[in-house]
Amino acid sequence: MRILDLHADLGMDILKKHQEGETDVLKNRHLDKLKSGEVMYTAAACFFEGSQNWEEMQEMVLHTRKELQNSDVVWIKSPDDLDENSTKISLFLTIEGMCGINADTENRIQWLRDQGCLIGSLCWNDENTLATGNGGNPARGLTQEGIKAVRKMNELNMVIDVSHANEKTFWDLIEYSEKPVIATHSNARALCWHDRNLTDQQIRALAAKGGLIGLNSWKKFIAEDPANQNALMLAKHARYMADLVGHQHIACGFDFMDFLGRDRYDISSADQAQNLIKGLSETGFSEEEIKDIAYRNAFRFMRENL
Ligand SMILES: [Zn+2]
Repeated sequence: MRILDLHADLGMDILKKHQEGETDVLKNRHLDKLKSGEVMYTAAACFFEGSQNWEEMQEMVLHTRKELQNSDVVWIKSPDDLDENSTKISLFLTIEGMCGINADTENRIQWLRDQGCLIGSLCWNDENTLATGNGGNPARGLTQEGIKAVRKMNELNMVIDVSHANEKTFWDLIEYSEKPVIATHSNARALCWHDRNLTDQQIRALAAKGGLIGLNSWKKFIAEDPANQNALMLAKHARYMADLVGHQHIACGFDFMDFLGRDRYDISSADQAQNLIKGLSETGFSEEEIKDIAYRNAFRFMRENL
């Protein structure tokens, strides 16, 4: 079954490999794996770890763009490019962490949108000029500059990603964003205690605002007990959240990092993505519901919000 992945750190891999002298990184390192797991649509996320500046942000975005332009793929720049029958891998640009926006907020967000960035999180795990990540000061949330960023993103139909926000930033984003927000790669905290996972209250608030939650395959966000760090348990997060708010708010945001040297288990890279589909079936979802979680919910969300 075809799948849409809302979060993959492909931008970082592309930039790193380009700097080492490689070209055609998508073609040589990613497309076969994506095809074999039927991950037909995926984010090419540009990730910034908190101390990087604006020039570094621009550099990664431009390198990632170059691969999207020059590879045999579909580059999704608007919802019109989402094709349910596409036989080519389709990718869209996203941003994880806007630490480089420490001045000139509106113009820099405009620049990112002009480059084709469709979804963006204001912060990664740390604090920056705009917002506070899950590892930052719990009493600090969205800043005045961050509110400007939210307004600009709303104006441009650039979707706000809350996945790395601390709780205060999360609730500020729920309050200040006039449009639905998305958690591209987060699970349910009730099943796995981690501050990157969402509380029941957060899941309800996201759903009430028309948002979407992408299931994250990183083992430490699936279960605390290593024996349960697998695709079936990830499907149980979907089951839990669907019982709470309805399956139409669930999607995939795997955050696969095998290409960065992370461990291998049964849902650790794109070629294993169908293991989640199997797990969803074992946890009682119907064929139609599984299709929704696999890609149709994300299609609908993107068509309504981009
Ligand atoms: Zn992340």
